[in-house]
Amino acid sequence: MSLHYQCRNCRTPLTTEETSSRLCDECCYLAADYRRYDDLREEGHMSDQAKLMCGLADPPDPDDE
Ligand SMILES: [Zn+2]
Repeated sequence: MSLHYQCRNCRTPLTTEETSSRLCDECCYLAADYRRYDDLREEGHMSDQAKLMCGLADPPDPDDE
């Protein structure tokens, strides 16, 4: 098998038991946020914007353009 699953939040390699949410033990508390993220992506939002909308990313620093 050459398929390797990674935590979608921190890129930790996952075991097969952990892949349903594609989040590792450390990040599984984010599963609901990532479900919302997936919904937002399906609605056509850009990934950066979707992450902001569900709290997975910090708002960009307005001074850091
Ligand atoms: Zn993780």
